[in-house]
Amino acid sequence: MKELSSIAQIGNPILRSKALPVARSSDPTILQLIDSLIDTAIANQGVGIAAPQISQPYRLFIIASHPSERYPYAPTMPPTAIINPQILNHGEEVVKDWEGCLSVPNVRGLVPRYRQIKVEYTTKEGEIKQEILTDFIARIFQHELDHLDGILFTDRVTDPADLYSEAQYRQIISASDLS
Ligand code: ZN
Repeated sequence: MKELSSIAQIGNPILRSKALPVARSSDPTILQLIDSLIDTAIANQGVGIAAPQISQPYRLFIIASHPSERYPYAPTMPPTAIINPQILNHGEEVVKDWEGCLSVPNVRGLVPRYRQIKVEYTTKEGEIKQEILTDFIARIFQHELDHLDGILFTDRVTDPADLYSEAQYRQIISASDLS
């Protein structure tokens, strides 16, 4: 059986620290960290997870988007390691949509994010990649990149009334499914 990493919860100083650049993506500790992050994301049905969330202070995260009860309209994308990520530029449009976080249990919020971003990162194979991301995937990228700078989604909520409990969120989501 795989041993799963425990997830740092809000209040843990690791979530407020700036993570360090990854020097070599082929380093065995980094490859092992990628595997642990993917296992932890899958086990917790997360659509993304950043290394500081399992107490590893590196600029590395996983995007593992898939439709779920929490995010019924999420696109499917195999778990992808994003190393030393940067946002090169972004469109003007900012959209508020739902987010949650494995490190902030039972809380959901409407968070403003850029709808479209141009990003650069290093892949697991060590290749530098540039991509244009939109909507949900762009949202995950911005959320996870914030983790590398010690920022949580609750910091980005612009109106306190945009914070919800998980139970309230589920009621709203199921009501909108019926309409
Ligand atoms: Zn998070």
